[in-house]
Amino acid sequence: MNTTRSAELFEKAKNYFPGGVNSPVRAFRSVGGNPLFIEKGKGSHIWDADGNEYIDYCCSWGPLILGHANDKVLNAVDKTMRNGTSFGAPTKLENELADLILSNNKFIQKIRFVSSGTEAVMSAIRLARGFTKRNKILKFEGCYHGHVDSLLVKAGSGLVTFGNSSSAGVPESFVNETITVPLHNKEAVKEAFEKFKNEIACIIIEPVPANNGLLLQGKEFLEFLREICSANKTLLIFDEVISGFRMGFCGVAGMYNIQPDIITYGKIIGGGFPVGAYGASKEIMSNISPEGAVYQAGTLSGNPVAMSAGIAQLTECLVPNFYTDLETKTKYLVDGINKINPFKLFKLFHLGSIFWIAFTEKETINNADEIDADSMSYFKTLYHALLENGVYLGPSGYEVGFVSQAHTMADLDKTISAFETSLKKLV
Ligand SMILES: *Cc1c(COP(=O)(O)O)cnc(C)c1O
Repeated sequence: MNTTRSAELFEKAKNYFPGGVNSPVRAFRSVGGNPLFIEKGKGSHIWDADGNEYIDYCCSWGPLILGHANDKVLNAVDKTMRNGTSFGAPTKLENELADLILSNNKFIQKIRFVSSGTEAVMSAIRLARGFTKRNKILKFEGCYHGHVDSLLVKAGSGLVTFGNSSSAGVPESFVNETITVPLHNKEAVKEAFEKFKNEIACIIIEPVPANNGLLLQGKEFLEFLREICSANKTLLIFDEVISGFRMGFCGVAGMYNIQPDIITYGKIIGGGFPVGAYGASKEIMSNISPEGAVYQAGTLSGNPVAMSAGIAQLTECLVPNFYTDLETKTKYLVDGINKINPFKLFKLFHLGSIFWIAFTEKETINNADEIDADSMSYFKTLYHALLENGVYLGPSGYEVGFVSQAHTMADLDKTISAFETSLKKLV
């Protein structure tokens, strides 16, 4: 496979950007080699700068649930942008996207659009603190919530810890407001509430954690969180930036019928444009500026071009059987790969249209510390072999893959045989 053009572009990019990229995982550091520079995408396929073609399961890390350059999204964007790209004043497109979401989602009554998942989470945390007048927040080891200062915290030793910052530049005083506990561990959550009675503003969780492998929590654990939050007047935040509009139109809240206090969205909501959002009951949302005292604003928030992309994409998601079709295809892919995996080196887990390749013999993995870091060297080999065979995944063994509406049965069959060929490299 010739990738010289990508390599040249990467050399240039290193002069411009730290590590040659504008978001760290793109640099291919965990799989080694040079990142591929992508020239174009259509449907389930992408082409790199050297003209190599791949079936894409990264899908821009989740947003492209209809695949690349979907005609309905492109037409909507084209039509909108010809009338101007931003006004910093309200447009009716914001109403339309909000109406589409709120009238089909009983878990939130009001919404605020922002420009990224990180921004949505950051605002939701501020809202929870403003509403409860408490400072501490509780998060889980193995959940990612964007690069919000107070959430770049990893567990220390012990069950309930203040942990350590996972990034330079985060003050210790911030870290001291963040309690970190392991996933899928009721005792740890109970202990945190005993230790910090009446101090915890919110629990934030990815209800289907999908940024550090796919760490399935199940309904019962989430129901437990709902109960303990209610009992302690703590808000429950579902960070559905990755699972929202993915695990069904109403995300995990809808899938399990659990009512969180605040939900954050991103990725799919913007149809491939930078949009995030957070929503809650009318009462909680009334605390947001200009109605309430919690300040939050954005020059490009509710951007009309992005809104029209979101409307076009979410309209497709509401077509009957959209999600069951995605799930059926994903199951076909996952079962197909698991079947041709004679040495049981790894297995694919999936939920809805998210899948993850885990190098494990375990039947389930629901906790970050169950992931074997050494196994990532296998992923590295598998990753490059799959590229050679025309399959593009997110370049890290901790990342999940996504099946889109655009993936065809032929794509899935081709992917299964690409795994079969690549597996020979692993053995
Ligand atoms: C992607 C993601 C974020 C961050 O969103 P950005 O748009 O990258 O800022 C936050 N939370 C979850 C669960 C995510 O998957």
